Amino acid sequence: MRNIAFGYSTRCNIKCSHCVAVGEEPVTTKMDLEEAKSSIIKLAAAGVTGISFTAGEPTLYFDDLLELLKQCRVLNIYTRVVTNSFWAKDSTATKAHLEALKDAGIQQLRLSYSRWHGEHVPLTNVRNAAYGCLAVGIDYFVSFVTDFSTEDETYETFLRDNSLKFFPEPLIYSGRASDHLKKDLFTDYQDNRCSMNCYLAPDFNMFACCDAGSHFSETNIFLLGNIQQESPQSLFNKSDQNPLFTCIRNLGLSAIASYSGLPSREIVTYRKCELCEKLLNCPKTLTTLEDDAHYMLEHWHR
Ligand code: SF4
Ligand code: SF4
Repeated sequence: MRNIAFGYSTRCNIKCSHCVAVGEEPVTTKMDLEEAKSSIIKLAAAGVTGISFTAGEPTLYFDDLLELLKQCRVLNIYTRVVTNSFWAKDSTATKAHLEALKDAGIQQLRLSYSRWHGEHVPLTNVRNAAYGCLAVGIDYFVSFVTDFSTEDETYETFLRDNSLKFFPEPLIYSGRASDHLKKDLFTDYQDNRCSMNCYLAPDFNMFACCDAGSHFSETNIFLLGNIQQESPQSLFNKSDQNPLFTCIRNLGLSAIASYSGLPSREIVTYRKCELCEKLLNCPKTLTTLEDDAHYMLEHWHR
């Protein structure tokens, strides 16, 4: 079982102030459709069984997206599309979009939702899209991005009042959100393990991380290579066999931080991706951790 986040394009029709996909000066990049289709064939040959279409807003290139979904269906790849639901303005538009996606073989729609999305897309669009999914028979869930503030209670209440299936997703303080005012954490000592889903960017660079890790500009630790120069299998192998990445998946970032000498009282003040950035986007710390990763794996456990 191998899944990958597929960034056909970084283009989006709105500009959420929490967006992790881009920095302050987004450069819109897009794959060539035929090259994207052939990359899906290569990914399938490397054992990929699930693709999540993400990055910018995938439905902006709707006809291309349908082609890519059809390509996945032929290759027996499970497909999810992440969308901001801007297209679900009314029942006619919602039905037309969802029926086309269903015909192309989509298996799940992930509806992005937050108070930052709500500044650009009416909340009712998300409800239209969710109810439309139920009507045409597409699995869906609402991804409720939140900073757990009282401000977000209204948004959560809307989801509950409309009986929508939703899962809270912690805001990641990276990309545009890196400038947000961060609140102190009040939590216990979490393992902060990370499953590390791979991400294919529009320039065909593959990263071992599909979230904040593609922005680690000092070390670029998660960049695996480019699938137009190297086979996806070889890039997946790099990710699977990297001892430090194995530590992130199995030991967790808190154990790595503790091993590197960070005091426990400081470790509990970091969110997962921030802790990851502190450790792995610092060339000096990274060098030490890479050198020690084998030792850590063998000795640093309870
Ligand atoms: S969070 Fe999603 S919808 Fe908002 S700007 Fe980023 S890609 Fe677009
Ligand atoms: S913890 Fe690190 S590897 Fe995991 S999603 Fe965050 S930045 Fe990526």
